Amino acid sequence: MTSNNKIKVKTPIVELDGDEMTRIMWAMTKEVLLLPYLDMELKYYDLHIKNRDDTDDQVTRAAAEAIQKHGVGVKCATITATQDRVREYKLKRESKSPNGIIRAIMDGTVFRSPIMVKNIIAANRNWKRPIHIGRHAYGDVYANQEIRVSGPGRAELTLIPDDGSQPVTKIIHQFDGPGIVQGIHNTDASIRSFAKACFAYGYDQKVDVWFSAKDTISKTYDTNFKNIFDTEFEANWKTKFDAAKLSYFYTLIDDVVARIMKTEGGILWACKNYDGDVMSDMLASAYGSLALMTSVLVSPRGCFMYEAAHGTVQRHYYRHLEGKKTSTNPMAIIFAWTGCLKKRGDLDQTPAVSDFAAKLEEAAIETIENGTMTGDLVKISTQGESAKAVFMEDFFSAVKAGLESKR
Ligand code: NAP
Ligand code: MG
Repeated sequence: MTSNNKIKVKTPIVELDGDEMTRIMWAMTKEVLLLPYLDMELKYYDLHIKNRDDTDDQVTRAAAEAIQKHGVGVKCATITATQDRVREYKLKRESKSPNGIIRAIMDGTVFRSPIMVKNIIAANRNWKRPIHIGRHAYGDVYANQEIRVSGPGRAELTLIPDDGSQPVTKIIHQFDGPGIVQGIHNTDASIRSFAKACFAYGYDQKVDVWFSAKDTISKTYDTNFKNIFDTEFEANWKTKFDAAKLSYFYTLIDDVVARIMKTEGGILWACKNYDGDVMSDMLASAYGSLALMTSVLVSPRGCFMYEAAHGTVQRHYYRHLEGKKTSTNPMAIIFAWTGCLKKRGDLDQTPAVSDFAAKLEEAAIETIENGTMTGDLVKISTQGESAKAVFMEDFFSAVKAGLESKR
């Protein structure tokens, strides 16, 4: 194929490369499924752990700035360095989570959706359509302050207004022995952009929006979340939602946990930061495999970063380093790229780019539905023993063959 008949991607895409097995799958996705067909300019940032360490995370910050500038990026999974990793890669120090650094710069909401294939049935048989999760990616326990209380003492919460008005103090607890205390915060601006992002996503995907918190217990903190969602919905979305026959409702987190089991799916569940962290893992596992879960960070300024929900698949990488072939599943990485290309195609109004991405997604799904799948899926496929785990390379070849047949 000559470069002349490649599909032109109008605007540069910001590419954040990563670590271990996902780095291997990343390179293969580009080489086998993208670069032969697309003429695209990639703004490349190498977030390999060694490079993040060498640059004191400057490369991560620069990548986040580039996404803010160009609008759409795609990220490979990256190691968050622990002491073990410091020894393994001979690093200067334990690093901050790169996703944490990026979210702190971009702000925003993380949306996760399962990739559904006919022969992998969700653990809950009521779920016929995706349940999307929208996770607020700012504040709460992820930006907390904690104190270990060593003995008797009074813990207070104090607000000192910048305008010189009277400080406000509340006693948290009078300790008569050792304990723990924690302070958390959020801002109206961030909560409002979380609400906007969720309504925009629900409207775009044509799914109902459910928002959960615990306002009966947290009468100021969680009630503020609830009120901001209500105000944003009434002011900017109610008319649109009514016209599209979509609904929004707020209820308690424990009520949603009970209801979610009975739903058919086809909803966006908007979650506070911690709830989203936990519930997205529960849903990924219940829908089949971490490798069938996509993730996108949507910033309040309308910038997008697509990624797989899973990590670097460390154990497979060690096998790969021993020269053994692995049966690692590249679906979520392929879908990170297609999500990014579809968005780029929409923003640039280049339907050929979006069509290509849609065909690649179809080819990948049909590959699994036709019985060619990686080991993680064989275990849970409805075909049982008759399905056979293929090596990652063979999975890529099968997807490519499917894609070629659609062109
Ligand atoms: P992980 O990489 O998601 O892997 C956990 C297990 O899930 C794997 O050992 C594997 O099970 C299975 N799995 C995940 N993705 C798979 C795929 N594509 N194909 C087949 N099996 C898959 O999580 P982790 O082992 O906890 O973390 C590894 C590293 O990733 C850590 O250094 C962590 O910091 C990083 N991490 C990064 C991100 C991110 O960048 N967004 C997110 C999470 C973790 P089997 O081994 O049983 O086959
Ligand atoms: Mg989690």
